[in-house]
Amino acid sequence: MPREVWYQVQSVLDAHKSAADATQIHDHYLKGTVYCGQCGSRLIICNSRNRHGKVYPYFVCSGRHGDTSDCTRQAVLIEDVERLIESYYDRIQISGETRQNVAGMMHAQFDQLMAADTQELAGLAAGRDRLDNERVKLLQAHYADAVPLDLLKQEQARIGAELETINNRIAAHHDEYAAARANLEDAIGLLANVAGIYRRCDDANRRLCNQAFFTAIYLDDDGEPRVTYQQPYDALCDPEVQANALNWAAETQKSDEVQTRTGAVPPVEGLNLVTSG
Ligand SMILES: [Zn+2]
Repeated sequence: MPREVWYQVQSVLDAHKSAADATQIHDHYLKGTVYCGQCGSRLIICNSRNRHGKVYPYFVCSGRHGDTSDCTRQAVLIEDVERLIESYYDRIQISGETRQNVAGMMHAQFDQLMAADTQELAGLAAGRDRLDNERVKLLQAHYADAVPLDLLKQEQARIGAELETINNRIAAHHDEYAAARANLEDAIGLLANVAGIYRRCDDANRRLCNQAFFTAIYLDDDGEPRVTYQQPYDALCDPEVQANALNWAAETQKSDEVQTRTGAVPPVEGLNLVTSG
């Protein structure tokens, strides 16, 4: 596995590790993730022995098993469920092209959000410059004996507090987008490689992987899993989002070609207003 991919897997899985219950270790890794497709109850493990004494572990519907519903869901071999979920990952894994399109579209959306905040950031940066200026003038006045020491200290404290507020707001704004972009890259990198990764994961990491992707996997009698996704996979795996990304990429390419033909230079906006602390 390429090192870059492994880091991405780790960062996505680590986010779910803290939520994992240590007492689950001895349970099957799918327990808690798989549900009955018919009545929505949890599937629980049940061992069945054949007449030769061989034990077969099954998933059975806890609703049917406990007589709390009139569910008729058949028991299903755990081994078969494991295979079903492995092949489900084959189906949701995205191609390199889709990865590029979806990442490109989402980064463009981040750019728009950041651009919308540019005015506020410019205001913050101006406020910071004004305070820096004020601080210099205050010291100069103090050295010229125009400002007594106690007033100097008082004013310095006020300026320091205001500067801290502004710097915190600028840093928070910057961190928020940087973290969101990094998370997006990690999540989408995992999605582009997930089928092979899942097959090679041990049981503990398979559990984490399933928890990172799905809030629940429902198993119907026809053997087709139905899933509900965790964020951000609810968006990344949404066929509509992927289709929009394809359109977005086509539109972007078209407008790039027009600009190249007419010799227009695309505007480069300095979004990074945060330069110092
Ligand atoms: Zn059921």
